[in-house]
Amino acid sequence: MKKLLAVFLSVVIAFSLSLQIFAQTDDEKCDCGNIPVIFVTGFAYTELVANAGTPDEYGAFGVETEAITDMIKRLVLPLVELIFTGNYDKFAHKLSAEVNNLFYDASCDENGNPKNPTVDIEIYEPPSPYHYRNTKSTFRYDWRKDVFDIAAELNDYIEETKRLTGHDKVALRAESMGGAVTMAYLYTYGYDSVETVIMQSSAFDGIEMMTSLFVGDLSLDAKSVMNYVGNFLEGNSPEMVFYRALYNTLSMLVYHPVVKLLGGLIGNIEDVVYEDCIKSLFGYIPGIWVFVAEDSYEEAKAFMLDEEVNKELIKKIDKYHYEVMNRKEEIIEEAMANGVNFAIISNYGKAAVPLGDESKNQSDFLIDTKHTSFGATCAPYGENLGEGYEQKFDDGHNHLSPDNVIDASTCAFPEITWFVKDMMHTWYSDGYNEFAYTLIYTPGQETIHTYPQYPQFLLNNQQTEALEPLTKENSDTQSTDVDFIALLKLLIEKTEK
Ligand SMILES: [Zn+2]
Ligand SMILES: [Zn+2]
Repeated sequence: MKKLLAVFLSVVIAFSLSLQIFAQTDDEKCDCGNIPVIFVTGFAYTELVANAGTPDEYGAFGVETEAITDMIKRLVLPLVELIFTGNYDKFAHKLSAEVNNLFYDASCDENGNPKNPTVDIEIYEPPSPYHYRNTKSTFRYDWRKDVFDIAAELNDYIEETKRLTGHDKVALRAESMGGAVTMAYLYTYGYDSVETVIMQSSAFDGIEMMTSLFVGDLSLDAKSVMNYVGNFLEGNSPEMVFYRALYNTLSMLVYHPVVKLLGGLIGNIEDVVYEDCIKSLFGYIPGIWVFVAEDSYEEAKAFMLDEEVNKELIKKIDKYHYEVMNRKEEIIEEAMANGVNFAIISNYGKAAVPLGDESKNQSDFLIDTKHTSFGATCAPYGENLGEGYEQKFDDGHNHLSPDNVIDASTCAFPEITWFVKDMMHTWYSDGYNEFAYTLIYTPGQETIHTYPQYPQFLLNNQQTEALEPLTKENSDTQSTDVDFIALLKLLIEKTEK
């Protein structure tokens, strides 16, 4: 009898437990301590496809190798003709027709609406109930859309994640364009559902390269091209220093004539190409306008768009620029006052895209450090701020980088802005991810003073993939001083093997 009772009781207990487990997935809160992390992706992170979801699906952003090589083949004859006739306009129209064709599926009409309605993102990752430590779910979107439409999708994603996980709040890792999306989200939907925001290589303050493109500044110079390609020669092993020195010496011999030739060609065809394709292809995509920096926005609008023809589009992009981008300091302050923990991680030590006047900026390979850091004063790429430089604002802390390249005292939020030297735009190393998750899982608002291992200035160690505090000693990562003895030793070692 006792045994039967025990069996009965255990069945009852098991049943009620299972009920509890069942209920937890629906209404009850989860107290696992691992906040769900949502990765808010950047521009073109997810491919666009035409005929999405059908067997006839194909890439819509025109970046498939075959399409590009076919186009180049078709341009060989017109180019030969150009050399003999000197008729730049004819060549420019031909080139524009090809580019228009290549990007047709991804392009928008004058109101900013997609021309091909079958185009969508290739992969959609739905919100997930799983939220193990150091993992994230990935929010993907059609980056051509008006940023407020994307923010609405992010809001749905966050609400569904909360429901599925049983957590009241989420953490956002916002990279690149995802930073602009996150700002539009915070502005529109408030701060209640978000515990932490990490802006990583964020485009919330624009990108100089896109600004140059949108104000018609396509100037090139050989040194900037050399630096940009040289971004890939990373590391300080004796071999790498030798390659870098060799590259810097010899590459200019190639780049000088090529850039001169290319510059001449661009100068002769740019007017036609802008009118025929650049304005309507890129200027008509609402999402791209988040990249235009604040102080050049009106100039870019006047250059790229027509007040009457593009009235609807201008309404959309103005809203982001005037209500979000120009007010981002206020929005971040308000978010923090409402309990959101904020961190801004900015990279430097890479040469900027060699387009326009600002191509000498300190950057992460794509976005300028002054923009991802929201206001740092940066020495031009390859230079420093000069001997005896003193930080602009003295708040009692040091905000000058050990290599004298960055003055963080001019940042909008110097106490919550970190810098990682030698990190490519969004090519996260293990050490970088570890840092981001440390910020997320530590309760409260961290600052550059919280952790001894994560001071304001960090180095992405190329060999170990770890982040380490930047020091005077480890900061010279672009050296071209070849250590011939070490190099010789290395060579001997290699031949012995
Ligand atoms: Zn949980
Ligand atoms: Zn300070």
